[in-house]
This record gives sequence, C-alpha cells and structure tokens, in this order.
Amino acid sequence: MAFGKFGLASQVMEGVRAMGYVDPTPIQLRAIPILLEGKDLIGSAQTGTGKTAAFALPMLSKLLDAPRNLAQMLILEPTRELAAQVETAIRDFTRFTDLRVAVLYGGVGYGKQKDALRDGVEILVATPGRLLDHCQQKALNLGHIRYLVLDEADRMLDMGFLPDVRRIVEQCPRERQTALFSATIPAQIETLIQWAMRSPETVEIGMRRSPAETVKHVLYPVADSQKEALLLELLARVDYESVIIFCRTKDRADHVSAVLKQKCHAVAVLHSNRTQQERQRALEGFREGKFEVLVATDIASRGLDIADVTHVINYDVPQHPEDYVHRIGRTGRAQASGDALTLMVAEDRQHMAAIERFIGQTIARVKLDGFDYTYTALFDETDKRSAHETKFRAVRLSGGYYFGPTKRRR
Ligand code: AMP
Repeated sequence: MAFGKFGLASQVMEGVRAMGYVDPTPIQLRAIPILLEGKDLIGSAQTGTGKTAAFALPMLSKLLDAPRNLAQMLILEPTRELAAQVETAIRDFTRFTDLRVAVLYGGVGYGKQKDALRDGVEILVATPGRLLDHCQQKALNLGHIRYLVLDEADRMLDMGFLPDVRRIVEQCPRERQTALFSATIPAQIETLIQWAMRSPETVEIGMRRSPAETVKHVLYPVADSQKEALLLELLARVDYESVIIFCRTKDRADHVSAVLKQKCHAVAVLHSNRTQQERQRALEGFREGKFEVLVATDIASRGLDIADVTHVINYDVPQHPEDYVHRIGRTGRAQASGDALTLMVAEDRQHMAAIERFIGQTIARVKLDGFDYTYTALFDETDKRSAHETKFRAVRLSGGYYFGPTKRRR
C-alpha cells in the first residue's frame, strides 16, 4: 500500500514525497490509520522503524485544520539529541505547510527558545525538564495541546523523568489524543498509560530482538588490566571506516577517548555531561567523517540515527540485553555488513549469558592472534567451548589473523 491511500493532508504528502518515502514501514501502516481516526495509540516500535513519521504524519495532517499561534502538538523526548532529530523530521514533513515548530531542551540558553515561543508555534518538541522551566517562567502554556506524544517512555522512566512527564501531562487538556512509544511496558509505564490515555490501541512491531543478520558478532575474553591494550590492538588491526565504542559510564568514555587521542585517533565523545554544543559537534563531525571513532554511553546514543557505521566495539559489556541490540543496531543497517566486537572480562559472564539468551545466539569467543595475553579464567571456558562445540578457522584481519569459530550454537 502506498502513502496516498491513508488520506493524509496533501501538503503533508508533499513533504513525504520530498523525503523520498515510497512505501510505508510496518509501524506506519498500522499506526497512521489509528491516529487519523483520533484514537490513542501505544506503539512498541524502536527508533529506526519509521515511528517518527508514524505519529507525525497523521497528527500534522489534523493540525492543518486547527488555529495558528497556539501550541497544539507536543512531542516529549528523553534526550536532547532525540529531540533535535525529531525536530528535523518535523521540519521536513511540514516544509510545504505554514506550521511552525520549536525545540526546547536544556544545556543551551533560553533566548532563542523564548523568541520562538513568542513568535508563535503550533508544534513543540521538548525534553521534560526544559519544557517545565518554560512553563514555570510563563513563557509557555500547555492549555491548548490536542496532540501529545510520549516518545521512548521506557527511557524516560530509566532517566527518572516520569514525575516531570506526569506534571506536564497534568497541564495538558484532558480532551486530547495521546500516543506513547516504548520498547517495553514496565509497571510504572502501565500506570502512566492507565492514567494518561483513553482506550488506547496497541501496535506492536515485533521487538527486534535479533540484531541484523548482516552483523558479525565476536567476543574477546580479556583480563581487565588488558582491556585498553586490546582495544588499541583491535583498532590497529581492524579495517574500519567508522566505529562507535560503547562504555558503561561517562568517566570511562572520557578515559577511553583520552587514551585513543593520545594514540592519534580522531575521536569524538558523546555522553550526557557534555554541553549541547559539544554533543552536536561530536555527532556532526562523526557523520561527516571528521572523526573516525565515536566513544559513547548508552543513554547518550540511544535512538540516534547514525547510519553506516562499519564497526561497533563494546568496550564494556552492556548491563541490559536490549542495550546490546541497540548498540549493535548502529551497524549492519540497510543490508550493509558490520562487525560487533565485545570485550569481555570475567565479571561479565552473567550479563553475556543474558545477552546470548536474549538474541538467541551464541557469540564466538575469539583470541587475537599474536596479542600478548595475560591469563584469565575465561580462556579455559573459551578453549573448552572451542574443542567441543565449534570449528575454528583463521580469519584475516588487516595486518594479522584471528582465530574464530565459524559455527553458531543454538
Ligand atoms: P525513525 O524510526 O522515525 O527514527 O526513522 C528512521 C529512518 O527511516 C529515518 O531516517 C527516516 O527518515 C526513515 N524513514 C521513515 N519512514 C520511511 C519510509 N516510509 N520510507 C523510507 N524511509 C523512511
């Protein structure tokens, strides 16, 4: 089915055409008719599935018939980067309309945001804290909101934003349409749904548990003391064009990036302690190829539309299996092949087992040939697995070989 059949407003359709969208994605196919009918919607689709257009196109179509100069559509996002990304998408979709959008997030001055609000807007894309600041300063009134989108609700919960979200919803009129997107629905989100939504319909676009088929996964067991050295060795040997290195905390991300800079890598860092300008510069520089390496934490990178990454390196094993899938989602997009390399220390055993269960796949344990390893008990397990369960072959990396199992276990 083509976009033309939905009955979206013609100016919005012009925007869709200009974006080059031809066929709707599965979430768009299912969500657009529900939202056009005026019903509330719970969507369990992740970023990358086309969910922004899924909620934006029908809501913007309806907004065209509404009065101007009143903030009537509000999209809440957990991070500044996501807010900026969604704002860009909204600007693209509204290019052939007279609708105006303002983006409100922290870490930057109030001036421009207040100017935009004073000039008059119909659409707001915002992070919860800054939005409430504007409301408290009386720069903004949510009394005319008719379309409310709570995006990445589970991440808002993780980040402690739910009380702010509730305060915002309380300021919106009851008479409104609400769409909520969340990869998972924990109890607190369920409570929010009960309280904030009216007979919502649910659209589940099969939670992509399994990472793209085109991604090759490899695990590198290593002693904690040798992680840095192994990372440097991997970067020296792996033939990458662009790589994202994921760390568990901001401090570790800063540390790893400092080590890499010392070794003359062009590195950018992305975590929530950086200023908005620093983060934007990091992202743009990485997209443009000015930086070949991006060191990031999960929260800062979640949902970002960074395509064409040839390698993802998990310097730290993620704490949650879903984060492994999110991280790996940066590579192997759109049928391009990609590699996902994970450094694993003894304490990561349980987390790794949970990840393998989650993705339904055992990941090959590999030793980097010629690397001067110190002993870790993980090697005994790796050797046992190799002998019994997998067939080894030498795989060429630029400048060296590694020995990797080739057969997947179930
Ligand atoms: P999202 O999940 O909303 O972040 O969208 C992910 C990417 O898919 C964005 O770059 C969108 O521009 C793109 N996209 C969304 N819908 C479509 C579509 N129907 N056809 C082609 N690309 C799309």
